[in-house]
Amino acid sequence: MTTTASSASAPGAHRRFDALRGRWVLVSAGRDRRPWSGQAEVAAPDVAAPYDPTCPLCPGNPRGAGLDDAAPRNPDYSGPYVFTNDFPALRPATCPDDDGAATAWAETPPGPAAVESLLRREPVAGECRVVCFGPRHDQHLAAMPDDALAAVVDTWVAQTRELTARWRWVQIFENRGAAMGASNPHPHGQIWASSALPDEPAAEDTHQRDYWRQHGRRLLADYAATEQAADERVVAANDDWLVVVPYWAVWPFETMLLPLRPVASLADLDTSLRDSLVAILRTLLTAYDGLFGVPFPYSMGWHGAPGPVDGGSATADLADSEHWQLHAHYYPPLLRSASVRKFLVGYEMLAGPQRDITPEQAASRLRALAIDASGAAVRPATS
Ligand code: ZN
Repeated sequence: MTTTASSASAPGAHRRFDALRGRWVLVSAGRDRRPWSGQAEVAAPDVAAPYDPTCPLCPGNPRGAGLDDAAPRNPDYSGPYVFTNDFPALRPATCPDDDGAATAWAETPPGPAAVESLLRREPVAGECRVVCFGPRHDQHLAAMPDDALAAVVDTWVAQTRELTARWRWVQIFENRGAAMGASNPHPHGQIWASSALPDEPAAEDTHQRDYWRQHGRRLLADYAATEQAADERVVAANDDWLVVVPYWAVWPFETMLLPLRPVASLADLDTSLRDSLVAILRTLLTAYDGLFGVPFPYSMGWHGAPGPVDGGSATADLADSEHWQLHAHYYPPLLRSASVRKFLVGYEMLAGPQRDITPEQAASRLRALAIDASGAAVRPATS
């Protein structure tokens, strides 16, 4: 298929390969202009007060607000505050049934031997924690002073070091905004650690490992270099970090944040990388908030080298992580305004991911909003 000159800025429908996950993404630019009379997002109300007496995450407040007097109460914390989720999806030991009955737990339900392999299950243990980014109900990450934002990064690093020592996977994530299901506007994230390696990181592990075996280099290091050279999808960069709209992005303004030198895990971050991460996080989040003039909803999370497999030693497994490059994914749902979001339904659920604007168009709009703390444009280094 050939492309005409007039389609150079918005190529016709095509699909792009996601080298990290090993799947295809359908790009059909221009569909974002179609008439829309579907659901409109309600803009988030302004959170004006630094303290909300009814917020279960604010310092000093009971977490089970209105439930009972026995609800745990937050300490009067002044920096990031981490606690075990009061309603965890995962528990450290595989539990008996909810009613407390210590029933024998078969890994595979009983049944005719011939079908057992089609009904597989296995226990999963883990820990779920909540991370309040700071005491202020009204202060999201981009509005925090440098030292407060650095403290959040330090918390991510410390939690990763602690939990990766005993769990196969540590998922640090943040749901921001009601559009992404955040149950509370108090700035916070979550950490779910599990004995099992979930599908998304498992796919990334496979493709990074294959690339390493084939080329002897990290897939995402080569990818970062490719994006820097192409300079079409770079949103911001500094000496240590790069933000790009991935070539294979699915969500309209999806980005990937990754280091420009070999770093396998958040556990490996030093203070220099932390400080440069603080700077580029602020740039990215400020650009996001500027895009449609609203606190920008997203789900984000960190991916890095997994922890030891059951029975393995942490040392042996870290030696097996040379193919891994740390990165964060940002998945924002908004498509063309504060009130029109992208739904992944229909074709996306039944066939595969599809996007409505090109990654290059998205990167161009975000890049125009990417300024550093001094107000200067954050241009990728031209080489
Ligand atoms: Zn990833």
